[in-house]
Amino acid sequence: MQQELDLFRRIADRLLSEEKREGVVKPIPAAALWNTLNLQLSAEGLSETEFEQLLTEVVLSTPRTATSKFFNQLFGGRTPKATLGDLLAVMLNNSMYTYKVAGPQVGVEKAIIKEIISLIGYPSTADGTIASGGSMSNLIAMLMARDKKDPEARFKGNRKPLVAYTSAASHYSIAKNAAFLGIGRDYVRNIPTDATGKMDPQALSAQILSDKAAGLEPFFINGTAGTTVLGVFDPIDPLADIAQAHELWLHIDGAYCGSVVFSTKYKHLVSGLHRADSFNLNAHKMMGTPLTCSIIVTRHKKHLADSLSNEAEYLYQTDGDDFNLGKTSLQCGRRNDALKFWSLWKAVGTKGLEAMVDRQFALAETAVNYIRDHKDYTLYSDLPSISVCFNYKDIPAKTLCTALYEEGELMVGFGSFANETFVRLVTINAGNQEQQILDFFATMEAFVSKHEAALKITTEV
Ligand SMILES: *Cc1c(COP(=O)(O)O)cnc(C)c1O
Repeated sequence: MQQELDLFRRIADRLLSEEKREGVVKPIPAAALWNTLNLQLSAEGLSETEFEQLLTEVVLSTPRTATSKFFNQLFGGRTPKATLGDLLAVMLNNSMYTYKVAGPQVGVEKAIIKEIISLIGYPSTADGTIASGGSMSNLIAMLMARDKKDPEARFKGNRKPLVAYTSAASHYSIAKNAAFLGIGRDYVRNIPTDATGKMDPQALSAQILSDKAAGLEPFFINGTAGTTVLGVFDPIDPLADIAQAHELWLHIDGAYCGSVVFSTKYKHLVSGLHRADSFNLNAHKMMGTPLTCSIIVTRHKKHLADSLSNEAEYLYQTDGDDFNLGKTSLQCGRRNDALKFWSLWKAVGTKGLEAMVDRQFALAETAVNYIRDHKDYTLYSDLPSISVCFNYKDIPAKTLCTALYEEGELMVGFGSFANETFVRLVTINAGNQEQQILDFFATMEAFVSKHEAALKITTEV
């Protein structure tokens, strides 16, 4: 292994210097991929030299999410202490299902869950697990809600016409999960939002009443803490009132911005969260850990266990259920996604996590102020949100984002809300400071002034 670690070091050093020098890499067009890189597998292995060359080439031509010019998704940059934790998790290669094979790593995971539970003020009946992403955390939430509404469903399948509620601006995993669970996409109600993108509680209430009148069985409300496009927060207290009145499970999907729970200044955005039945946050988004690290917690340890546990004598041979995390997990074998977040959290403390959250909102403010101070921009989003949505010089957002990507200038995406499509600048990139946000605008403006004719021609087509 020593030889591979040396090689790792050489390749990683190259990558770090290229990230600095070049930023994002100029993409290989998908149609040219197979002719550009020798990716096909063959009967014979490569020599050590060829292997190193090829591996380096593949790594260096891969999109660079860790550079300061990556704004394309709801993650970006690199948090070195978290990356270190993940590298060690790979070296250790435990599986999180039992204490016997994961040992102290079980405690590492439990410590994270315990602290999040305490930060949101859940009672001692709370518990949680780490899933392979926000989509899967949302699946666990919907599963617990279904099994609570109909405990027999686990054995007999769905017998009731269950209905789930989520806002029209929520993540697509809600509809997908309803399909997975046999509830059906058509039984997910997309509740309208107000003009700012927050779920409208009155519309929610009306829809529940009309579904009940039609003989259907509402069971689940999903609220979002940080909607995927605009990054806004559904109002939790009104949703909790409705959930309470109708005895529905309330889940808060904080995959994107649930990490506001670490910030004194911004946790008001999720006030009422302690009333939700379950809540998830993706540490691989605001906390900048390597993908994936999605934590789901629930007030009801019982429902987590009821929905996810299975007896398996071949697996659970020692220690109590509390230390055998497989009993409350969606998976059997499960990689250690806890160590990276724990390493970061231990190194910087909750105060360090808070500073990360606060900085992202401050950077969004920098971007919004820049947009307000410069003509040729139209702003579509409001503070506080770390998604800054705008258009520049009436260039269609898709044209602009695609051209910036194809020329290897910047990676940034576009989104739509209320019939408008716009550039979505996400100030989540873990390494960025104010300067990198200003550089983003400078790079984009210079690019547009150089290519304005071409971009306008595309506009007219
Ligand atoms: C990103 C996101 C998800 C999905 O999380 P994955 O880890 O990508 O599966 C779910 N909900 C919201 C609001 C998100 O932003």
